[in-house]
Amino acid sequence: MTQTHTFQAETQQLLDILIHSLYTEREIFLRELISNASDALNRVQFEQLTNANVLDAGAELAIELHVDEAAGTLTVVDTGIGMTEEEIIANLGTIARSGAKQFLQALKDAPPNETATNIIGQFGVGFYSVFMVADKVRVVSRSYRPDAQAVAWESSGGTTYTVAPADKTTRGTEIIITLKEDAKEFLQAWRLREIVKKHSDFIAFPIYLGDDSETPINQQTAIWRKSPKEVSKEEYTQFYRMLTMDFNEPTHVIHMRADVPMQFYAVLYIPASSQQTLFSLRKEPGLQLYARKVLIDDYNKQLLPEYLQFVQGVVDSEDLPLNVSRESVKADRMMANLKNSLTKKVISELKRLAENERETYLKVHDAWARYLKQGVVVAPQDKDDLQDLLFFNSSHDDSPTSWHNLADYVRRMVEGQSEIYYVVADDFTSASRSPHLDAFRARGIEVLYFCDPVDALLPMQLTEYKGHKLRAVDDAELDLKDVGKLDETAAPAQEAVASDAMDALIARFKTVLGERVAGVQVSKTLVGSVARLVSKEGANGSNARRHMFRINRLLDKDYELPIKTLELNPHHALIHNLAHKLAQSPDDTLLDSIIEQVFETALLQEGIHPDPASMAERLTRIMTAATST
Ligand code: ADP
Ligand code: MG
Repeated sequence: MTQTHTFQAETQQLLDILIHSLYTEREIFLRELISNASDALNRVQFEQLTNANVLDAGAELAIELHVDEAAGTLTVVDTGIGMTEEEIIANLGTIARSGAKQFLQALKDAPPNETATNIIGQFGVGFYSVFMVADKVRVVSRSYRPDAQAVAWESSGGTTYTVAPADKTTRGTEIIITLKEDAKEFLQAWRLREIVKKHSDFIAFPIYLGDDSETPINQQTAIWRKSPKEVSKEEYTQFYRMLTMDFNEPTHVIHMRADVPMQFYAVLYIPASSQQTLFSLRKEPGLQLYARKVLIDDYNKQLLPEYLQFVQGVVDSEDLPLNVSRESVKADRMMANLKNSLTKKVISELKRLAENERETYLKVHDAWARYLKQGVVVAPQDKDDLQDLLFFNSSHDDSPTSWHNLADYVRRMVEGQSEIYYVVADDFTSASRSPHLDAFRARGIEVLYFCDPVDALLPMQLTEYKGHKLRAVDDAELDLKDVGKLDETAAPAQEAVASDAMDALIARFKTVLGERVAGVQVSKTLVGSVARLVSKEGANGSNARRHMFRINRLLDKDYELPIKTLELNPHHALIHNLAHKLAQSPDDTLLDSIIEQVFETALLQEGIHPDPASMAERLTRIMTAATST
């Protein structure tokens, strides 16, 4: 008996778009159907190896394409796991697939001149893509379960589909596509060959065309089992695309095989970009895990530490049991071994790139540095390996596009320097303009810019690098007297304000600023700037805590701005003038306004002014006074 069902609303919407969009690469429908057939074959292969009760246990695991020119149909047949009636309704009546959902979302969010046609190629819309080329689709399927009934699903797009019992005696699925008038090209053998070659060459099962069931039209090699010498760059890229449907070239490929302690093969990729599309197509992070060429896990997250989850690829073990998901001590130990080898290899490759192929490495860094930084913080045991992989802008050349790691820094340390100095700031410009850098510049000492928001977390674990302590430049205890050599031309022309006048001025600052500062003191380091805010806590760990508010602010969490100590530069003309004014006319209200402004300017430079616009009124008052004659 035939029952009519209505597609889920989202599915109807998707179908409507697919049927009416003039997407030029409609050929990808075949890639989608073949990929589904291949999934179904993988799953039945797994069942066969772990469960004796499978229909047609002897059938070859293969995919066939058949063309009927008279009827205008293309049929895709597989001997895969098949579907029961319930499964077919669940799988082909709703959108289970995240790629399709994200496609609809992207379409909703797209600017008005962006059409479905433009963005469809970025998404794997799955089974429904067949409606780009079909007037009608009939799916006949029989599950691998020996007692299941065969079932037929049929639809012409639109809002409904039908489901009815069918007579199919063999296991698997047949998809009979009645092609649209303008899609007859897909009846031509050469065209089908071309598409398979382009999109499905590495599918692990043979794909046969027409009656020739001897010579597959795909090469089906497990690329990872070949010798790296035999694999061309194009093949690696093609395989990557098939795996991820990310159409950017991967930045780097790692092809490895190991014999001890376990025998395995792996091809790993570092994707070029962390853009969403990548993850929308690989639905989750994780590597594909095979055991002797049988796919046993599509998204295995235990093969690499979390901070390397951006790596994509395939691992194929000779020794793993197929039911690795069921816990066993032996399998656990093997997985731990695999993880260890893979992690070491990825890190050593990244280190090699960082050392010898900087340009390539910086692309990796640009896309994935946050993962690596997270690694430094959450996996202290790997810190020593990861620390050379982190790059920063620096006062060395003061450019937002030039990158240095700790090793570069240490190589350039000046005489008497044993510590590594860094400034935490909200962005490159604030780091580069920070008043804290004054003293360092004057002494020719380099400062690293920690200006990616997550950099503020690094000092929690990264307290030392090869015996050199990391030190924040706003550390109040910092004394650079014996580090580097003071450039006399950069040194202040003015004498310092006399100490009793300075004491009086500091007292006035304290009265005006009250609780807003932890203290006010004379600076030992400032050269060209009037003032700066420093933190007193130099002790271990508090280094990180004092930057926590930046993280919380980034995460939209509640945060309290830190209360800091204000340091004044006794050589600066403004401080001279203020000291003088205080002695001459202590009741001048302008004096207090300027004190406020010195403090708030320092807040601003620190990136912690809660309300910069509030300064406008005071600034106007000060300017008015400065211009009155
Ligand atoms: P995805 O493959 O990402 O899950 P699709 O839209 O391509 O999404 O397919 C939807 C579901 O339909 C699949 O997950 C699978 O359960 C089922 N399916 C599709 N084609 C086949 C097939 N040839 N054999 C068995 N099941 C299939
Ligand atoms: Mg699919």
